[in-house]
Amino acid sequence: LPIQLDDPSLFKTDSYIDGKWVQATDKSTFPVDNPANGQTIAQVSNLDADQAQAAIKAADKAFKSWRTLTGKERAGILRKWFDLIIANTEDLAKLMTLEQGKPLAEARGEIGYGGSFVEWFAEQAKRVSGDIMASPNKANRMLVMREPIGVCAAITPWNFPNAMITRKVAPALAAGCTVVLKPAEQTPLSALALAELAERAGIPAGVLNIIAADSDRSIAIGKVLCDSPVVKKVTFTGSTAVGRILMQQSAPTIKKMSLELGGHAPFIVFDDADLDAAVEGAMVAKYRNAGQTCVCTNRIYVHEAIYDAFIEKFSAKVNSLQIGDGFTDKVTQGPLIDDAAIQKVREHVEDALGKGAKVNAGGQAHQLGGRFFQPTVISNISEDMLCMREETFGPLAPVVKFSNEDHVIELANNTEYGLAAYFYSRDVARIFRVAEALEYGMVGVNTGLISNEVAPFGGVKQSGLGREGSVYGMDDFMEMKYVCLGGM
Ligand code: ADP
Repeated sequence: LPIQLDDPSLFKTDSYIDGKWVQATDKSTFPVDNPANGQTIAQVSNLDADQAQAAIKAADKAFKSWRTLTGKERAGILRKWFDLIIANTEDLAKLMTLEQGKPLAEARGEIGYGGSFVEWFAEQAKRVSGDIMASPNKANRMLVMREPIGVCAAITPWNFPNAMITRKVAPALAAGCTVVLKPAEQTPLSALALAELAERAGIPAGVLNIIAADSDRSIAIGKVLCDSPVVKKVTFTGSTAVGRILMQQSAPTIKKMSLELGGHAPFIVFDDADLDAAVEGAMVAKYRNAGQTCVCTNRIYVHEAIYDAFIEKFSAKVNSLQIGDGFTDKVTQGPLIDDAAIQKVREHVEDALGKGAKVNAGGQAHQLGGRFFQPTVISNISEDMLCMREETFGPLAPVVKFSNEDHVIELANNTEYGLAAYFYSRDVARIFRVAEALEYGMVGVNTGLISNEVAPFGGVKQSGLGREGSVYGMDDFMEMKYVCLGGM
């Protein structure tokens, strides 16, 4: 093993179909590397499209019995899975830091966050009920039953290798659906460890299937999952570009879709804000996971009256971040996921500097080399810079001066995205006014951290469809059936 684990059997490189650990039919494997040093840490079985078909078949067979369990029975099994995830936090966190790069403390935090969805939906599994409506005529009685939608396909990204899986799988399983999941090719180890714990928790064969593949085979598997008439729903977290492809591929079979796509979060600091709190919030909203989250702020707008003070305090904080290998003590910023990620940050910085931006902190590749980039703050920003339109997905913060509330709201909304937005103000009337005016699925007011299992996570516009987590999160995995009793 490339790492010391309390329980080495959590280090899995084969995939999990129908309750069995399987290799690729042609024995093909693909390398997974440690972003901190580029070294290969595992060769993982590279499953193919036919094996995706086998997984769909297994999920279809398992659905017939899994859906007939009571909500309480499914709840009990999910609760065991949750307990095992929490009991194995340290090993799961180490596997995550190893393949994803985030600092170990952040990885531990993600296991708690990921686990919380399993706990929450284990509780919610018991609370699915229907309705009886008041009929408009005396002869009828009208009921609504709620039923699991069927076999679900899930495709997940590398930035939250644990939580993006549990946030989909837990509500699906709680509802009585079965799942075929294809994790990101960069982070299959976290996914396969979750499958091992699911098996130990007693999740029956075929209910949760996890198939790993490299990027080429992921595309072929994605096609199979979308084409299959057996799969009733696709749930995806990733880029808007891939979301569009999956939606197109799913059109012939009219699948239900849940899409958690890209974002371009504005972060607005009004002149009545608590400045220190705003700086703190901006640090969290920007630099968590080295800027690689879809709710990370991409654009910071600061009122002119406090602009210079904000830049000064914010840049000082950014300069105090500790960059390095996520396993090293006190490191707060790990490497970016791959070379393309570094290239994109570099491009956005160079584009901005070419258009007149000024560097206030960082600005270059980090001296550690490889996939490390200095956390960066730039000012003197114009709206035509790439970083003001495209998701940087890295540690770059453009800070823009504004003078007028209406204008800054217009700028904030001027994007095809609509996932998360943040603002700082202490004026109650303004808080309601701005929260209502922002065209976003989620708004953080006086906080840079908004995600938890109780909240409905999701976006509007081209940031996606559907909501994950919360009391609404199971709706995406259920159908309504209306039953009309006549002649009463
Ligand atoms: P990112 O740019 O963050 O890597 P992607 O949207 O490319 O995000 O990837 C998210 C997930 O989508 C990964 O699991 C990846 O393998 C998968 N994926 C990428 N392209 C396709 C595709 N054409 N069909 C199905 N899945 C895909």
